[in-house]
Amino acid sequence: MSSDKESHSHDDIGCLEAIEAFYAYLDGELSDPQAIEDFEHHMSHCRSCFSRSEVEKLLNERMRESGTSKAPDDLRSRVRRLMDEF
Ligand SMILES: [Zn+2]
Repeated sequence: MSSDKESHSHDDIGCLEAIEAFYAYLDGELSDPQAIEDFEHHMSHCRSCFSRSEVEKLLNERMRESGTSKAPDDLRSRVRRLMDEF
């Protein structure tokens, strides 16, 4: 009997990894183009991750505009908790 493993796939990295990669990307810690491609691919078809990433992007742009390079931890954890409740 052959076990039916999904060996034919370069497939999805999954929500958790996508989100982790995305946060690393925002922090400037993700430099591997393949990893970036992977999470972008995931987000292109996963709605919940996509909306998360949109919220974070907006947040980041705001912070850049206001001249703060890094999000206050307080704000960040509040946003994360908010998104976990989605
Ligand atoms: Zn996802």
